[in-house]
Amino acid sequence: MRAAPNTRVQKMEGLPGDLNSELWGLHNTGQDKGTPDADIDAPEAWRITTGKREGGPVIAVIDTGVQLDHPDLDANIWTNPGEIPGNGIDDDGNGVIDDVHGFDATLNKAYVSTKHSHGTHCAGTIAAEANNDEGIVGVNHHAQIMPIKIFPDDGDSATAATIIRAALYADKMGARITSNSWTGGGYNPVVRDVFGSSEAFHVFAAGNDATNNDEVPSYPASFNLDNSVVVAASDRNDQLGYFSNYGKKSVNIAAPGVAIKSTVLDSKYATYNGTSMATPHVAGVAGLIASEFPDISNQQLKDRLLFGTDAKPQFADRV
Ligand code: CA
Ligand code: CA
Repeated sequence: MRAAPNTRVQKMEGLPGDLNSELWGLHNTGQDKGTPDADIDAPEAWRITTGKREGGPVIAVIDTGVQLDHPDLDANIWTNPGEIPGNGIDDDGNGVIDDVHGFDATLNKAYVSTKHSHGTHCAGTIAAEANNDEGIVGVNHHAQIMPIKIFPDDGDSATAATIIRAALYADKMGARITSNSWTGGGYNPVVRDVFGSSEAFHVFAAGNDATNNDEVPSYPASFNLDNSVVVAASDRNDQLGYFSNYGKKSVNIAAPGVAIKSTVLDSKYATYNGTSMATPHVAGVAGLIASEFPDISNQQLKDRLLFGTDAKPQFADRV
């Protein structure tokens, strides 16, 4: 028999089993040639809150729609409490029949399904389920994701009318936060007004043209709304994503957006790049903040996001 020193091993308390090492954006220990702590400090936040479903903030994902029965998402999809499914009646009188799990703004009908994975990927970053023996975990372990579809199944562009319907629905149905991983369409004063006069807090992608939004505006990011934050993409070494738009005056924050693994259609997973992927990281953090501080104002929420960052010199002239 051999004696060995009784060393104590420090166990990371409470980390979900599906926080796998590919999720560098949540927790970066230097895996895959990354830089330790080039992440959003998700485990640190989870000591305070892992998000909230019952009574928690509704987070609208204004995008392609979300796979409602993805096994890593289905427990975190919003349910409209005022609507009886499948009875052909607009029970809650909001103008949309049987809108139980979101809104299809392209058809002005209840959201049912999508043929594009983009919105499902965003939703997974915000709130893929934790500890369910499936794939990944999101920034929030518990949440209410409200899918709002603005991109039709047969296309990749949305009209201003569709976007306006989407934002009005999110507001009417009590979304606290909207996540907007889309750009384009130019300056539209009605779209600006709908988002700006909304009670929700909006998270906008900066864009993927590697250009300066201070010089070449990108909308909706460049609407410059008080109740919004604009997000550039960073990589696993805390550098600006090679594709990411930036803007010292008009882009507020950088978040993980390069090589981001998340949920996609057909109950699968995939790794994407984009400010589209950075945006739901910030929307997810906003969800955690609003879970912990249910009465927080939009300005306080924005301040907590902006002053809770790590200031990096390489981003000083970028965001
Ligand atoms: Ca309804
Ligand atoms: Ca999971």
